[in-house]
Amino acid sequence: MKKAIITGINGQDGSYLAEYLLEKGYEVYGVVRRSSIENMEKMRNIQSFRERIHIIPCSLENALSVYKLFDKVQPDECYHLAASSFVSYALEDDLSIMTNNFTTTHNILSGIVEVCPSCRMYFAGSSEIFGNVQENPQTEDTPYNPRSVYGISKMAAHSLIKNYRERYNVYACTGFTYNHESPRRGHAFVTRKITSFVAGLVLGAKNKLELGNLDAVRDWGYAPEYVDAMHKMLQQSVPKDYIIATGTIHSVRELLDIAFGKVGLDYQDFIHINEEFLRPESGVPLVGDASAIYRDLEWRASKQFEEIIGDMVQADIDALMDKSNGKRDA
Ligand code: GDP
Repeated sequence: MKKAIITGINGQDGSYLAEYLLEKGYEVYGVVRRSSIENMEKMRNIQSFRERIHIIPCSLENALSVYKLFDKVQPDECYHLAASSFVSYALEDDLSIMTNNFTTTHNILSGIVEVCPSCRMYFAGSSEIFGNVQENPQTEDTPYNPRSVYGISKMAAHSLIKNYRERYNVYACTGFTYNHESPRRGHAFVTRKITSFVAGLVLGAKNKLELGNLDAVRDWGYAPEYVDAMHKMLQQSVPKDYIIATGTIHSVRELLDIAFGKVGLDYQDFIHINEEFLRPESGVPLVGDASAIYRDLEWRASKQFEEIIGDMVQADIDALMDKSNGKRDA
């Protein structure tokens, strides 16, 4: 039986990946922050299969803890998905995002070299490393030009992945994922912010939705498909980095149209533009060319944007109904 460690198992991607690997017969070890374990809300994504995995509280910032973990588990694969993921523009967050994302990647790579050299590692990179791009769509050869400290931290950690691959022959690779959504997406992201708002309206809420730039565009894919790409990347004979994307873009406006349209409403009656949510956007859109991963591993995104958003709205409505029924029963 193959063993896999997933860092950030309780997040959107970690939870889908865990289910995917369990399905394939893996023994799954999920790393979480000690402070998250007793927090029901933070463990919600893995609640339904919690008994089938090993949950390990471990501080990835601490090299000794990471070494001990790898020494004990001796995993075949490690998926490093945990990260400080808030794309912040606030000065005070810079250092912690930088040190966290770089140090944790370093500790895992050096842990593999020290105690578990045959372990293969997937690193969750990000389209944010392209930042202010000059070319569209982006490929694996597009120059990096991050605009956020999050993007810079992912670029630095990816450089370390390449360096360990060359220096120590470690099987490590980076997936440059573009935005990917699902009913498990965090509420701070615009997709979930909108779909949960629409669900609230259906159940009688009467507030307005405050948003930023409606003309902003993203390459939005479906998270359960992206974890399949991650797994495929660790099954080939040589480690290679890939763009994981749909290759198409949609605007926040289109997203609103689909989400409100799903329940027969017009978004223009419910939204309000709030400058607080405006962000500096780059002129050239971030959109990925995923032809390399299709050519090598036959992976490509297939679920359409309209369906992804429709499912998210439905899942939010169902969850709210369950909650209100629960209250009524109580
Ligand atoms: P990310 O910025 O790519 O990590 O993903 P988000 O889901 O947070 O944002 C996607 C796009 O939606 C960005 O271009 C935002 O500028 C735009 N956007 C517009 N209004 C909002 C909002 O109220 N919240 C968020 N999060 N994004 C917004």
